[in-house]
Amino acid sequence: MDYKQLKNEFQTPFYIYNFDFIKKRFLSLKEAFKARKSQIFYALKANSNLSLLQMLVKLDSGFDCVSIGEIRRALKAGAKPYKIIFSGVGKTKEELKLALEYDILYINLESEAEMILLESVAKKLNLKARISIRVNPNVDAKTHPYISTGLNENKFGVETQIARKMYLYAKNSAFLEPVGVHFHIGSQLLELSPIYEAAGIVAKLVRELKALQIELKFFDIGGGLGVAYEKTDTEPKLYEYAQGILKHLNGLDLTIGMEPGRYLVAKSGEFVCSVLYEKTNKDKRFIIVDGAMNDFIRPSLYEAYHEIILPYNKGEESECDVVGGICESGDFFARKRFLPKSKGGDIMVIKNAGAYGFSMSSNYNSRNRACELALEEGQIRLIRQRESFEEQIALEEKFLKA
Ligand SMILES: *Cc1c(COP(=O)(O)O)cnc(C)c1O
Repeated sequence: MDYKQLKNEFQTPFYIYNFDFIKKRFLSLKEAFKARKSQIFYALKANSNLSLLQMLVKLDSGFDCVSIGEIRRALKAGAKPYKIIFSGVGKTKEELKLALEYDILYINLESEAEMILLESVAKKLNLKARISIRVNPNVDAKTHPYISTGLNENKFGVETQIARKMYLYAKNSAFLEPVGVHFHIGSQLLELSPIYEAAGIVAKLVRELKALQIELKFFDIGGGLGVAYEKTDTEPKLYEYAQGILKHLNGLDLTIGMEPGRYLVAKSGEFVCSVLYEKTNKDKRFIIVDGAMNDFIRPSLYEAYHEIILPYNKGEESECDVVGGICESGDFFARKRFLPKSKGGDIMVIKNAGAYGFSMSSNYNSRNRACELALEEGQIRLIRQRESFEEQIALEEKFLKA
């Protein structure tokens, strides 16, 4: 990639995503489950750029949304309501109402209280809400605690026993229609046996429900597939993933729902910035760059490892910390990393930044958000322009006293 030319045209920092890579991953995931009816619901929260969503709509992707804002993004990008599902532990009444009005495919419920609220909202609208219940199978996903969600100590989903009770209630309600079951035990899973275990637990529930004349259509296995951020990481094999789940579903006629986020987009993306300065404090070497934790927070928040290169610098490598300019010691992209010598203006690339990068960015330190580019069929184009100072302050400026 000609980073220098991109820097001339768009300045730094910026994100760039390879759409062809995302397409390839989407199609191979779909292929792995070809023995069954399946539907991918891309988890928008990993990267919700409208052009990216529009590209996925063309591939017939569905969308897993966790806020009404994400549902609106999916619709804006051209998604059909019947390809949209709604997850999340804290949906508001207003969000539930809008989701019903949009007539999306189903709502993943995460508590009894939410079910009762949804029922009352559906009753007011005089319609039947299609629901799925997120089961918390109490398995340890063995990932970073912040992105582990499948243990009873986590806030997500309901225990199997409660789920069964909820299905029975929903079956007898005039305003609820149980259509699916859902689990999602965590993110960045490189070892998939916890998912298989969860699938077994949830499949058992599906059979019990069947015996009670509750016939579900969707078996939603969530997301969580990990990617190789480090050279020593090995990514799960898609075929094994599919087999590990499908083996629990013999004799059940279910459509497999998948909610991959990271797996589809993480490795498609790079965050490109420029070196501002190098300095040493005592013996410690720092490279200070023009991107920061407000642009890309994964290293700070999860101590995530991301490969970093200085594509145009040669020479001997020495240990350094790569940091942003934000007034926090937690503002770093890498610690104790070996990189060649650099100087102001040099280009630095942070790899595998396509997931939970821009979508977690903020204006902290009153910095404008970076721009986003797409590479598709050999062409590079802007898909989100760099934020301006005026845009950043627009919602406050009008309240200034004369
Ligand atoms: C975050 C999330 C996903 C996507 O997780 P990835 O690890 O990015 O695949 C899927 N489903 C739900 C309910 C989520 O909260």
